[in-house]
Amino acid sequence: MEGSDALSSKSFDPDDCYDYGLLIDLFEMNRHVPIPEVYKTLFESFGPQHWWPGRTRLEVVIGAILTQNTAWTNIEKVIRRLKKEKGLNLHVLHQENAQTIAEWIKPAGYFNVKAKRIKAFVDTVFRGYGGRLEKLFTLETSLLRQVLLHIHGIGPETADSILLYAAKRPVFVVDAYTRRFLSRHGWIHSDASYDEIARLFESKMGKDVQTYNEYHALIVQLGKSFCKTKPLCENCPLHPWLNPV
Ligand code: SF4
Repeated sequence: MEGSDALSSKSFDPDDCYDYGLLIDLFEMNRHVPIPEVYKTLFESFGPQHWWPGRTRLEVVIGAILTQNTAWTNIEKVIRRLKKEKGLNLHVLHQENAQTIAEWIKPAGYFNVKAKRIKAFVDTVFRGYGGRLEKLFTLETSLLRQVLLHIHGIGPETADSILLYAAKRPVFVVDAYTRRFLSRHGWIHSDASYDEIARLFESKMGKDVQTYNEYHALIVQLGKSFCKTKPLCENCPLHPWLNPV
């Protein structure tokens, strides 16, 4: 994996890589992926998605933590309950114990695990940033990403969702829908890493928060409408790019 890890780095140095053959394959493969054209097609088909459906930055963060393995309709129920309990407040979440928070977020599923993740996030904000989200969000993007990834239970997808949708940083979010449609079209290797996929979008779309916001939301819409577990290719807007079998 030396080659693919090196490829995923922005400061890529070929001298650090031992597998030049793999690198050339990946460069060749990425060169032909029509990332901007796919964006245009999805946008024309689905229109603007108006993401993220959260009103405050804390609401976006909590939504990003809760949405793992859960339908968004359940998250909406949780957000309503949190509002009722005045739980969309960092100080309240800091004071309450994980059991109480778990009770509030039950419809999200895995509520005990997710309550601990929320507590871990809130504890980080209080320990290092005076309980102020805006102070945490003053960190430079790569440092902020490292801080988020060090929080218990926060992986790359959640960290990048927080970076993009709450902190407004130009970081592309890769989820299972993204991997699925790219893979079905033969645009990524089956073992492509998270970072490789993110760099693929970032290298072809430039660094733009609004575009990344819209693109990820459109991919989610694609996954929900057409590129499901059983794909509905015939009427899908990306059908023209499907390789004949
Ligand atoms: S054409 Fe088929 S494989 Fe491609 S994105 Fe649409 S549903 Fe998925």
